[in-house]
Amino acid sequence: MTLQYTPTSAIPKIVADLRTSFRTHRTQSLEFRKEQLRALQRGLKEFEDEFAVAIKADLNRSSEMDVSLAARAIKTNLDKLDELTADRTASGLNESDKNFVRLSPLGTVLIIGAWNFPILLTLDPLVGAIAAGNTCVLKPSEVSEQSAAALTRMLVKFMDPTVVQVINGGVEETTVLLKERFDHIFYTGNTPVGRIIMEAASKHLTPVTLELGGKCPALITEHTDIAVAAQRIAHWKSMNAGQVCLTVDYVLCPKHLQDELIKNVIGTWHHLFGQDFRTSDMYPRIVSTRQFDRISKVMTAAEKQNKIVFGGKSEAGNLYIEPTIVTNVSEQDDIMQSELFAPILPIITYETFDEALNIINRQEHALNVNLFSDNQDQVDRDESLPFGGVGHSGMGNYHGKYSIETFSHPRAVMIRNQANL
Ligand code: NAD
Repeated sequence: MTLQYTPTSAIPKIVADLRTSFRTHRTQSLEFRKEQLRALQRGLKEFEDEFAVAIKADLNRSSEMDVSLAARAIKTNLDKLDELTADRTASGLNESDKNFVRLSPLGTVLIIGAWNFPILLTLDPLVGAIAAGNTCVLKPSEVSEQSAAALTRMLVKFMDPTVVQVINGGVEETTVLLKERFDHIFYTGNTPVGRIIMEAASKHLTPVTLELGGKCPALITEHTDIAVAAQRIAHWKSMNAGQVCLTVDYVLCPKHLQDELIKNVIGTWHHLFGQDFRTSDMYPRIVSTRQFDRISKVMTAAEKQNKIVFGGKSEAGNLYIEPTIVTNVSEQDDIMQSELFAPILPIITYETFDEALNIINRQEHALNVNLFSDNQDQVDRDESLPFGGVGHSGMGNYHGKYSIETFSHPRAVMIRNQANL
């Protein structure tokens, strides 16, 4: 099924109608929000099979993670909505006044999703936006076309159109959409487009949450259980064919432990996908030719330098890239210049722990740092980041109670004691 793009001429009215709807205050009622969350819950259930087919077509993988994590986000917000949105008492200037903080919805918000978890990365923030009482425009990624089409059908069927509207399209449609005024923009995707989003938002002084990417390192030390670390790294690198924002991008490893690490990583990959990755039903594909070409360039550069020690095969026809290990990597290599978002594992060897930390610190902030160590001193020196990123990996955060907070304004309320001036 092809994805129907929204005519750009229709966009201003869609946004204006959502704003009018917000001003009726109907989304203020907690019961109304719960109804919408329950509708989303039913929609997710009814469309489970359609999402499975769509994600298989887009990425050749199971939809289990997208659907189960979205279902969990809905359930948490439904179960805890009263508690999470309750007024919070606060102290003010005068003890005899009544002071509290009330979470107020922001208004009409825009959520822009990415293709790598096409259902989760749109529904998870949507749950927060609805739970907080906003009206919302959702712009799924056009790259994961089948998922965007299935998601649109589900939302049109189950959600109140005065609360949630889906706009589909690529750069042209999103550019028009970004001209509109929103009360918050929540964007998931790459860092360069994150800049475009922030620039557009600044014209209206609209706050943004940017869920971006980066090069997340894994740090192996003398105190690492290599078998455990290798298993986790191999798992991350092959999940969704490495197209995961939190995936290990590169590994830092003491030289004498490298062979053992490589042996264990390869062992895990074979355990997961058998001897021939290409014919495995379980091994995912790269999402598009554009992404395939980008990754191929990095592979070719590594190949020219004779740095590929495992894998390296690819097949443009079916967007297949073999799990690949690259060694003898330096910070100057092409492979270290931007986020890989691919099943390629570069290994940089180091002499001292400080040297390894310096390499990490010279990179832009990543979403996480994976330190595998049972030495507490080393663990204490690890600057791990909360989900949500800083600097080039993003700003703001979400999940659980933080989602409602992201889409709310903590309004200070003071009920003045009449006796006070
Ligand atoms: P993508 O190509 O789907 O783009 C994301 C969204 O931006 C899409 O909806 C797209 O239509 C829109 N877009 C693209 N170009 C645009 C432009 N010029 N102007 C306006 N809108 C535009 O996804 P992607 O960016 O390839 O996603 C992968 C990146 O996302 C990686 O860097 C990954 O690390 C990051 N990511 C981050 C998280 C997180 O939670 N931090 C989660 C998933 C992915």
